[in-house]
Amino acid sequence: MKNIPYRINLSEEYIPKQWYNVRADMKEKPEPLLNPETMKPITKPEELGGIFCLELARQELDDTTAFIDIPEEIREYYRTCRPAPLIRAYNLERVLGTPAKIYYKFEGNNTSGSHKLNSAVAQAYYAKKQGITRLTTETGAGQWGTALSMACAYFGIDLTVFMVKGSFTQKPFRRNIIETFGAKVVPSPSDLTEVGRKILAEMPETSGSLGCAISEAVETAVNTENCRYVLGSVLNQVMLHQSIIGIEAKTAMELYDEYPDIIIGCAGGGSNLGGLISPFMRDKLKGEKSPYFIAVEPASCPSLSRGSYAYDFCDTGHVTPLAKMYTLGSKFIPSANHAGGLRYHGMSPTVSKLYHDGFLDEARSYKQTEVFEAAEIFAKAEGILPAPESSHAIKAAIDEALKCKEAGEDKTILFGLTGTGYFDMKAYDSFNKGTMEDNIPDDSELKIYESKLPRI
Ligand SMILES: *Cc1c(COP(=O)(O)O)cnc(C)c1O
Repeated sequence: MKNIPYRINLSEEYIPKQWYNVRADMKEKPEPLLNPETMKPITKPEELGGIFCLELARQELDDTTAFIDIPEEIREYYRTCRPAPLIRAYNLERVLGTPAKIYYKFEGNNTSGSHKLNSAVAQAYYAKKQGITRLTTETGAGQWGTALSMACAYFGIDLTVFMVKGSFTQKPFRRNIIETFGAKVVPSPSDLTEVGRKILAEMPETSGSLGCAISEAVETAVNTENCRYVLGSVLNQVMLHQSIIGIEAKTAMELYDEYPDIIIGCAGGGSNLGGLISPFMRDKLKGEKSPYFIAVEPASCPSLSRGSYAYDFCDTGHVTPLAKMYTLGSKFIPSANHAGGLRYHGMSPTVSKLYHDGFLDEARSYKQTEVFEAAEIFAKAEGILPAPESSHAIKAAIDEALKCKEAGEDKTILFGLTGTGYFDMKAYDSFNKGTMEDNIPDDSELKIYESKLPRI
């Protein structure tokens, strides 16, 4: 038995040279995107070329290439913060008194504070390479906007970020950091776009949503010269870039002859979970191993656990292509929830397909207060202040470790610690004061949005 260190820090030579595209190994592929005007499947990258950079559109539609080279310029930037450490949570194991072995892949070791930088750098690079000078995007909690502003500053691209209004007011410092990296921040819904004005007219008091900010960002990209839109999750291309999380984690574990029995990720749009599980899913799809995969969602926005598997728009304003995915309905606006990065009505089409076909074993949702209880236990034991989003995975990992304790099993658990929570102090404050509330939509509310899904 090798002596496993607390922190497995791989050296730079372990930065992967290729991303892994799990769709290549899926016998049944995710359903194609549909063109919102014709409702026909999108089959050529050029069809997406008005919204996305061409190389990214190619990655989006590529269901057959398993390994895609990571350009050297992107690996160069990855060197600033990768490989990200894999940590053996000895302290948490001791606090829980569990025989389980707990590992987490820590993606918060960069200024953006989350895994989002992995895809931001890739997307900004491909834009630059194509000669694009401007990008637009949305941001919920602000992590994606921060990551993309860093990447755009590095590659010299103008960036406008539509930030969900609720987060904009809740997290003023996020805006400041994004502006420091040179990007423009607009609270969404705004009066700068047709979609935004329409939503404001319908719901003047709305705190906004990711779906709504996406509509504004897409509209702006389409109407601005030499400008494209980029998205921080949900899409296949993003999950592809995030596969670096799983590849590094797997390599680090293999060095110590370890393999996880249970793999857990929080799921907003599904890219971090998808990226973490991808190389392990490969083993499962090939019938070589059978780890148990768990997706964790907030009870306030439970798309996998309570949504429908159906074609839906990716945004509130219905300007984006339609994707077949688990969705709560594109007009669903989750109630105020501090895990802003998990407030999205849909789920990655690839993650959705894997769940629908039973390869992704379980989706569960937790209430906000119990997630923060887990965050506190984790922070005290491990000395890292976790992001509220990541704390959903922590909660599930703790629950699984306690089940092992009861059953006397020494399973190996791996979870994704997607980021740090330094900008979430309002949330921690309300938890500490005991004023945090749990908002869970009831079935009748979900039914209303379900009935509005496009009929295809
Ligand atoms: C955005 C974000 C998430 C959600 O990630 P998805 O890939 O969209 O599921 C989770 N954790 C943190 C810290 C985030 O910033």
